[in-house]
Amino acid sequence: MTTEQVAAPINAWQVAQRQFDLAAEMLNLDPGLRRVLREPRRELTVHFPVHMDDGNVQVFTGFRVQHNLGRGPAKGGIRYHQDVTLDEVKALAMWMTWKCAVVGIPYGGGKGGVIVDPKKLSKKELEGLSRRFFTEISVLIGPERDIPAPDVNTTPQIMAWFMDTYSMHQGYTVPGVVTGKPISLGGSEGRNEATARGCVFTVVKAAAHLGIDLKSATVAVQGYGNAGSIAAQLMAAEGSTVVAVSDSTGGIRNMAGLDPDKVLAWKKEHGTVQGFPGAEDISNAELLETPCDVLIPAAYENQITARNAMDIKARIVAEAANGPTTPEADEILYQRGVFMIPDILCNAGGVTVSYFEWVQDLNRDHWTEKEVNAKLKVIMDQAFAEVLAQSQKHGVNMRTGAYLNAVQRVADATAMRGLYP
Ligand code: GLU
Repeated sequence: MTTEQVAAPINAWQVAQRQFDLAAEMLNLDPGLRRVLREPRRELTVHFPVHMDDGNVQVFTGFRVQHNLGRGPAKGGIRYHQDVTLDEVKALAMWMTWKCAVVGIPYGGGKGGVIVDPKKLSKKELEGLSRRFFTEISVLIGPERDIPAPDVNTTPQIMAWFMDTYSMHQGYTVPGVVTGKPISLGGSEGRNEATARGCVFTVVKAAAHLGIDLKSATVAVQGYGNAGSIAAQLMAAEGSTVVAVSDSTGGIRNMAGLDPDKVLAWKKEHGTVQGFPGAEDISNAELLETPCDVLIPAAYENQITARNAMDIKARIVAEAANGPTTPEADEILYQRGVFMIPDILCNAGGVTVSYFEWVQDLNRDHWTEKEVNAKLKVIMDQAFAEVLAQSQKHGVNMRTGAYLNAVQRVADATAMRGLYP
C-alpha cells in the first residue's frame, strides 16, 4: 500500500450518525424527527488560559456538547486526551443520549473534552486547567441542566475540583452538579467500579444465553484504566482466566492466566503493564487477536475495524469503551457469529450509578454499596433482556437491538413534547 492509499482515520461522528440512521430507517422514524436527532442540540468550544509552573501562560482548547435534552438534563463525562476533537465529543454525546435511554434513566446526552495530555501536567497545572475549563463551560452546566462525570483520564479528584469551582461561584455547595466525586464529597458508593461492574453483569447474561461457562472462560482486556482494570478483577472473581491485558503502551499475555491485582500494582509502579513477570509483551493489535472467550475493549474508539474483525477470536465482545467497533467490523463480527454487547448497553453501569449519585445528592442521602450494586444489577439485567428480545425479534445484532430501543424512547419523548414554538 502506498502512502496515498493509507485509509483516512475513521471519524467517530460519522460512525455515530450511521448507527443512528440504521435504527431510524428500521423504525421508519418521521423525517423531521430524524433531522432533529441526527444533530447535537448545542456545541460549545472554549479556548482558555492556564498558568504553567514555568511562569508561561498556555492556551488550551476544550468542548462541551449536549446532544439531546428530551428525556432530562444532559449527562456525560469529560475526557482529557491529546487527540480529542469536536467530532469525537459530538459522537460521545450522542452515544450518551442512547445509553441513558437504553437503561431508562431520565437524562439526555452530553460529553466534554479538553485537548491535553494530562500526564505532562503537574498537579497544580491540572487543577488550574480543570477549574478554568469548568468555569468556561459553566454557561451550560448545572444540576438541573448538564451534569458532567469522569471519562478517559479524569478522576474523582478532578470531579472534586469541578464541584468546588461551581460551588464557589454559586456561594454554596452544589454536590449534584457533577458525579463520580470522592465519597467524602457526596460521591456514591460503587461509582468507581460501576462501569466495570455493569459490563460484567452483561457478560454474565451473555454467557448464560450462549451456554458459556464463565468459570472455564478466558478473557482479554484492552485498556487498564478504571473500566479495564476493574473489569479484569471482576471477571477473575467470576472464575474466568484473564489471559491478556494492555494499556496505551502495549500489552502482556500469559495463556496460563494473569493476576489482575498484581498487574495493577505493577502498572502503578512502572507506569505500564509491560514487563510483567511471567508474561510475554505483546502489541495492542495482538491483544485484540488473542484467542479467548471474552474480549473486553476498554480503551478508545475504532479499535475493531474492517482490518482486524476477521482476526478477532473471542465469542463475546463486551464494549466497556465507547465506540470501539466500526459499523463494518460490526457486520463482519455478526456474520461470524461473535456475540456483541454494544457500548450503549455494556458500559451503561457508569452513568447508571452516576444517576444514583445525583439522586442521593439531591436528596441529601447516602446508600450502602450493597444497595447501589443491587439496584444497578436490576437495571442492567432488565436492559440486557430488552435489548436481546429486540435483536431476536428483528433478527439484528445487539447494537441495532439497543439502538431500536433507545431511539424509539427518545423519539417518543421528543414527539410527545412537541416542537416549540
Ligand atoms: N464517561 C462515562 C460514560 O461514557 C460515564 C458518564 C457519566 O457517568 O455521566 O458513560
